[in-house]
Amino acid sequence: MSVSSEISGRCLCGAVSFTAEIAGRGIDVCHCSMCRRWTGGPLLGLAHDGAVRFQGAEHIGVYASSDWGERGFCRVCGSSLYWRVRGTDEYSFCARALDDPSALALTTEIFIDEKPGYYAFANETRKLTGEEAMASFMAGRQTDDTRDE
Ligand SMILES: [Zn+2]
Ligand SMILES: [Zn+2]
Repeated sequence: MSVSSEISGRCLCGAVSFTAEIAGRGIDVCHCSMCRRWTGGPLLGLAHDGAVRFQGAEHIGVYASSDWGERGFCRVCGSSLYWRVRGTDEYSFCARALDDPSALALTTEIFIDEKPGYYAFANETRKLTGEEAMASFMAGRQTDDTRDE
């Protein structure tokens, strides 16, 4: 039996809304410079695990921010909606777009080495540098690619 549950969210203007199944309630914070420019602050993401449904998908703009990541936003109001591995359905939804944030918990901070000095979260979190986060991410994705050098 799955322990996943469903969350819902929408952009500021309501042109785009979504529901998604999630496996946990942990928020990952990304302090990298790309997320900072895209959201106006750190990205607070909730990883999905299961079905995703969008309403108003025709209003979603997608920006490929790197060779492997892309970002979805509302083309009407500009709200940040998700980060996604390009060409996949591996989403990390922007926690601030969710309708009910009450059960969420901030658990992990990544790219801690790119965090500006002008803010810091007081939450007890697992903190990873960009290098550590990428290594962890790649280890989780690549099971048959064992290149080393
Ligand atoms: Zn909108
Ligand atoms: Zn980032």
